[in-house]
Amino acid sequence: MGWFIPMGHYGLGLIRRLWILLWFAASSLVYAQTAPQFHQTSKLHLPVVISCGGQPWSHIVWLHPHANETTSADLAIQFLRQQQRGCLYRFSQSHSRYVTFLVQGKSYRFDPNRIFTPKGRAQTLNCGGRGCKEAQQQLSQAVNEFIQQYLTQTRLMVALHNNRVGGLSVKHYAAGGDLATNVARLSLSDQANRDDFFYVTTDRAFDFFARRHFNVVLQHNRQVRDDGSLSVWAADQQIEYINVEAGIHHAMAQQAMLEAVWTYMQYYYPESVAAH
Ligand SMILES: [Zn+2]
Repeated sequence: MGWFIPMGHYGLGLIRRLWILLWFAASSLVYAQTAPQFHQTSKLHLPVVISCGGQPWSHIVWLHPHANETTSADLAIQFLRQQQRGCLYRFSQSHSRYVTFLVQGKSYRFDPNRIFTPKGRAQTLNCGGRGCKEAQQQLSQAVNEFIQQYLTQTRLMVALHNNRVGGLSVKHYAAGGDLATNVARLSLSDQANRDDFFYVTTDRAFDFFARRHFNVVLQHNRQVRDDGSLSVWAADQQIEYINVEAGIHHAMAQQAMLEAVWTYMQYYYPESVAAH
C-alpha cells in the first residue's frame, strides 16, 4: 500500500513517518479481523424470523417479505396471538425492504419478494462482474433451502404487505394501469380505500372477498409477468396465495382484512384450523 504515498512526502518528519507506520499496522489488524467475516457470510441463508401465536397452522403459512412494512407484521403477530394459532415468517434485515449479503468481498442486495424464480433472482440482483455468478448460485440455494424447510407441505400462503401514499394501489391493476396485464379479474369496492386490497390466485378467494366489499385483484396465473414474486411461484406450484395489501397507516382496514382471511380459512381449510 506504500505506493499511495506521493514522492513529495519523502521529506516528512520522523513523527509523521511513525504515524504512517502505525496506521499501516492498524490497517493490517483491521483487515485480519474483517477477513473471517467474509468467510462466514460465504454461504447465504435467508434471514428468516419466525413468530408463532401458538400451535402452527398445518398447511397454512403466513409470510412477511418486506421488513420496512412494519404495520402489517405487527398486526399479523397480534392477530395470531389472539387466535393462538399460526406462525409468521418474516424476512428481516435492519427494517429495510432489501437484504444485503457479501460474496468475495462484494456487496449484493435483493428484494425478498423477487427471488422465487430464476428470472426474478437475476433481475433483482442486478449484478455483473466479479462474484455475480456465485451470488446467483448462493441465492438460489438459499431460496431452495427455505422452500424445503417451510413451504413443502403448504396449501395456502398468506402474504402481508404495506404500501405508502403514492405507491402501489389497486388502480395499478385496473384497465390502463401498468400491472393490468397480470390481472384476470378485478373488483373495486365503493367502501374500501384504493390502497387496501386483496391480491389472490383463485376464483373462490376472489369471489369470497369481493362479496364482502373489499377491493380484490385476481392474478392471471398464465399471463402474469415472471418477476420472481411469491404469487408467481405459488401459482406455478398450485399453492393458493392471498396477499393482504394495505396502506402503511391503515391498521383498522388491515385488521378487517385479517378477520376476513380467518373466516376464509375456517370455510375452506376447516381441517387445518381445527387440527392440533
Ligand atoms: Zn411489500
